[in-house]
Amino acid sequence: MKRAEQMYEGKAKKVYATDDDSLCIVSYKDDATAFNGKKKGTIEGKGVVNNKMSNYLMSLMEKEGIPTHFVEELSDRDTLVKKVEIIPLEVIVRNVAAGSFSKRFGVEEGTRLLTPTLEFCYKCDQLDDPMCNEYHIIACGWATREDLDRITELTFRVNDFLCRFFAGISVDLIDFKIEFGKTPDGTILLADEISPDTCRLWDAKTHEKLDKDRFRRDLGNVEGAYQEMMKRIFG
Ligand code: ADP
Ligand code: UDP
Repeated sequence: MKRAEQMYEGKAKKVYATDDDSLCIVSYKDDATAFNGKKKGTIEGKGVVNNKMSNYLMSLMEKEGIPTHFVEELSDRDTLVKKVEIIPLEVIVRNVAAGSFSKRFGVEEGTRLLTPTLEFCYKCDQLDDPMCNEYHIIACGWATREDLDRITELTFRVNDFLCRFFAGISVDLIDFKIEFGKTPDGTILLADEISPDTCRLWDAKTHEKLDKDRFRRDLGNVEGAYQEMMKRIFG
C-alpha cells in the first residue's frame, strides 16, 4: 500500500490517504510538543518507538477482542490503519494521581487512587482541550449516549489490559489518553496511538519516569526513557 496525498499534519504524526478509501497511513515523527504546542522540541527516535509500541499493543488488544484501527506496520515509522472519523474526545484514565489531576485536586503525585478514574476532554487545540462531562458531550453532539457507553466499556478493558501488560515489564501505568473513531458502518474503534507520549509510565521499583514527562519537565535523558520502554517491550 502506497501513500497518496497528505490528509493532515498533526503535532506528532502525519496522516496520508491511500488508494483504498477505507484505509489511511499514519507516519510518526520525532517532533515533540507539550502544553498544547507551547513547548516544542525533537526526541530522536521517538517516532519509531511510538509506532512499534502502539502497533504491538493494539495487535495484542485485538486478540483480546478490543477492536482497533491497526492493520499493518509498513515500516519503522509508517502504519496502515482503518480510516475513522475521530470522536473529538481525549479519553483519560488515571490509576495513580499525577499531572493535571494532582494540580486540580491537590492530591500528591504518586498517590494510588481507590478506583481507576475516567475523564473526558473536548479535543480542540484553540480551546486548550477543555475538560468536559457526559452531559456536555451529548448536548454538543460530540458523541451519543450509546457511543459513550461503548467508549467507557472499551476504555476500562484497555486499562485492564495495559495495567497487566506493563506490570509484566515492571512498569506502573499511572495514567493515559486514548482516542476513538467511527468507521462508516458505525463501529467504534480504538484509534490514534498508545505510547510514552500518551501514557505516564513509571518504573515499578524506582518510580523513574519512562515517558514524555521527561521532556515536559526537562528531566533529561528523554531519548533514553523511550529506548528503555522499547527494550523492555521488545528485548
Ligand atoms: P494532533 O492532531 O493532536 O496534533 P497527531 O500529530 O498525533 O495529533 O495527529 C494524528 C491525527 O490523526 C490526530 O488528530 C488523530 O486524531 C488522527 N487519527 C488517529 N488515528 C486515526 C485514524 N485511524 N483515522 C483517521 N484519523 C486518525
Ligand atoms: N495526555 C495526552 N495528550 C494530551 C493530554 C494528556 O496524551 O493532550 C496524556 C498524558 O500523557 C497523561 C494523561 O493523558 O498520560 C493525563 O494527562 P494530564 O491531564 O495530567 O495532563 P498533563 O499533565 O499532560 O497536562
